[in-house]
Amino acid sequence: MNFKSPELEDELAKADTMVSVVCQWFSSLSIAHFNIAPTITRVLEHICGDSGVHEAGRGADFRDEFNDTFTYTAEQARFLVSEMNRRFPRKDNKLTCIHHSFQGGPLHFHCQTGISGVTQTDYSVEVTNG
Ligand SMILES: [Zn+2]
Repeated sequence: MNFKSPELEDELAKADTMVSVVCQWFSSLSIAHFNIAPTITRVLEHICGDSGVHEAGRGADFRDEFNDTFTYTAEQARFLVSEMNRRFPRKDNKLTCIHHSFQGGPLHFHCQTGISGVTQTDYSVEVTNG
């Protein structure tokens, strides 16, 4: 796993533990299937208008598009997204991994986790069983 800048490695260490787990898994899939060591481009940095999930330490982005070239083919990107969401299903109807561009920026993989890995649904079940 590569980092766009060395600070990002420190940021990942400070983020939610599940974010590291998710990133390690993404990296393993990418290397095992495509022999590509992925690059993390953003961890905690807030971009105006985003959901705030990065700032909250629950998100990390991996590079796809850079200088008009793509790290992955469309098929490879679909595979990674599908495998990540199969491996890390969430009960709150949110996806662990999406492939998108944000406000006209480059296409990238956005990985995110629920609050401390516990979803609202899990919490409600615990309360009900009380
Ligand atoms: Zn993101």
